[in-house]
Amino acid sequence: MKIQFLGTAGGRFGVSKQIRASGGIYIETCGKKLYLDPGPGALVHARRNNIPLEELDAILLSHVHQDHTNDANVLIDVLTKGGWKKKGTLIGSRTAIEGYEKIEKAVLEHYLKFLEKIVVMEPGDTFNLGDLKITATPTKHGDPKGIGFVLKGEKTVSYVSDSYYFEGLEDYHKGSDIMILNHIFPREESTAEKKNNCHTDTYSAKKLIERTNPELVITQHFGITMMKIGPDNEAKWLEEETGVKVVAAKDFQVFEF
Ligand SMILES: [Zn+2]
Repeated sequence: MKIQFLGTAGGRFGVSKQIRASGGIYIETCGKKLYLDPGPGALVHARRNNIPLEELDAILLSHVHQDHTNDANVLIDVLTKGGWKKKGTLIGSRTAIEGYEKIEKAVLEHYLKFLEKIVVMEPGDTFNLGDLKITATPTKHGDPKGIGFVLKGEKTVSYVSDSYYFEGLEDYHKGSDIMILNHIFPREESTAEKKNNCHTDTYSAKKLIERTNPELVITQHFGITMMKIGPDNEAKWLEEETGVKVVAAKDFQVFEF
């Protein structure tokens, strides 16, 4: 199994500066090639890292926000050779694929038609892509229909996506080997007391790690303050506090299991 980070920036300010890239995550598992949350720069950084975009089996979109979906249309265009070859599966939140209430969808109708299969997921739904079992998990975030994913294949990988911690979140991610956390805020920017606490900060990451106890946590999707103070410091603190191995991903880093 292979996981490569085509960028580790997150949030509107983290992405706008491009100090770190924001191209999402490429995963190979169970003989399948997946692209998860292709934010701005996914096409550019995928090409520079020789990601086989024409061979993708699925594109996964956790929610509608730009830093997760910006390059979805162009990836579909590349995968299907501009629609000449109908192929690929798009899996994602209702907001990203269909839109919801006043939220406009992220993938244009023009590109949706190029796909072989479209799977809209709600928390708890499952979908099998060959031997890979994909389960949608709940989030609490600015997108009311946003989801995370558990990918159960050679290893079980939890992608919590953008969410603040809430009671019961751990129930969906227990038993995972690897947990990918979108770690926007460091301790000094803790959002626990704030009204719009819609992202994971270090304290809520600690709670989730303690309650799920994975073998490895990979943090990414860092906000601008997090980048400045250094995600490694927060990862080290989390590791010391929880006893679970925590690694802050670097741009283009590859993990092989
Ligand atoms: Zn978001």
